[in-house]
Amino acid sequence: HKKHKVTVVGSGNWGTTMSKLVAENVKAYPTLFEEQVDVWVYEEEVTLPKESRHYDPSSELASKPQKLSELFNKLHENVKYLPGITLPSNVVANPDLVDSCKDSTILVFVLPHQFIPRVCDQLAGKIVPYARAICCTKGVDVSEKGIRLMSEAIGMRLNIYCGALSGANIATEIAQEKYSETTVAYDPPPMDSRAPTPKGSPNASMVDLISPSRPVPSERSARLKALPNEYPPLSHENVRKLFHRPYFHVRIVDDVVGVSLGGALKNIIAIAAGFVDGLGWGDNAKAAVMRVGILEMVKFGKEFFPDSAKTSTFTEESCGVADVITSCMGGRNFRCAKMATERGESIYEIEQKELNGQKLQGTSTAYEVNSFLKHQGLESEFPLFTAVYNILEGNAKPEDIPELIEPKI
Ligand code: NAD
Ligand code: 13P
Ligand code: CA
Repeated sequence: HKKHKVTVVGSGNWGTTMSKLVAENVKAYPTLFEEQVDVWVYEEEVTLPKESRHYDPSSELASKPQKLSELFNKLHENVKYLPGITLPSNVVANPDLVDSCKDSTILVFVLPHQFIPRVCDQLAGKIVPYARAICCTKGVDVSEKGIRLMSEAIGMRLNIYCGALSGANIATEIAQEKYSETTVAYDPPPMDSRAPTPKGSPNASMVDLISPSRPVPSERSARLKALPNEYPPLSHENVRKLFHRPYFHVRIVDDVVGVSLGGALKNIIAIAAGFVDGLGWGDNAKAAVMRVGILEMVKFGKEFFPDSAKTSTFTEESCGVADVITSCMGGRNFRCAKMATERGESIYEIEQKELNGQKLQGTSTAYEVNSFLKHQGLESEFPLFTAVYNILEGNAKPEDIPELIEPKI
């Protein structure tokens, strides 16, 4: 029989960490997966930072810029986005997007969300038609058609089924093999590879998601191709084997929408937490914005995804409340918003200066969610999300948050 070939699309802080844990698992299950895991690297020239395991100030490597992908394969380390961590030798960096994905049956997307549409468009038609994707990206895609989850954006653009992985998962802790949990949503419609390909969207449960009043666009008439019989089935059990590690505990659920939405919305909450913490207001203030933020997350799911997102996904799984908590304690969105408030600089300046190429997802998500809410006339129903947008826009200040989130009577 055939084995699944896995590609990780994206090699930032989380992408590189995902490639490490997936590569460990494919070696543990050699009858299911090909040993080599490709990771697509967005190519750039880098010099070795002091955090690298191979840093040596006297060597030429320390000063001479080199291709990130070449250093990755030579040193088994992503010296820019995950320095100090040794990667398994079966992870191979590939700077050619199409080449890295073309033979893979499993595509693990871990790009900042703003790059997903363009990257998927470059891949469309050039991948295995029965491939399956898992989206580890946290964000949403808002267009004139409405709001779309990243798992859905990937599934639609590539005409394949796309599940989601999201949880309370600060990448560097997982790269150091410190215990954490995650939630994987994987629920493709039932298929028989001998039967004709079923009609309907690959992400059938998401068909009605684009804004409440809007008809289903014709682009959703994508067809999902069955996995040929020679491959091991992508059952929950086998999907779990790809991601579960002794230090990374996976719970599998069906709710792709809830998992995708929680990961996106918590980034707005983390920015709010950073704003109040940056004022020196302490843990009570932070807990207050987390409470309101969680309520808005649950409400957003109920209001706009009523047939798909489950409230229990937000309240019971790692991808909901637990991710809000960890992100508001140590995530990049939290840390950058805090620094911006403390120093009186914009969060964009802080992102440029402090993150060394890593990307915030909460700023653009706050704008995207706001443009969706505005279009629905529902900004006032989501006061915390709206407050974060207004602070980023310069229409309000972090000090205004208590007043802005106070229920109006
Ligand atoms: P990152 O922010 O560390 O790095 C940015 C990445 O973007 C780099 O790989 C860079 O090469 C790439 N990039 C820059 N310009 C690009 C372009 N024009 N086209 C394509 N790629 C480009 O990345 P990350 O931490 O792996 O984040 C990816 C996703 O994972 C985000 O949605 C994030 O929310 C999510 N996530 C991150 C963490 C974490 O702790 N880092 C945890 C869970 C989920
Ligand atoms: P940041 O992108 O804010 O670092 O959040 C990481 C994350 O998603 C933790 O679960
Ligand atoms: Ca189901």
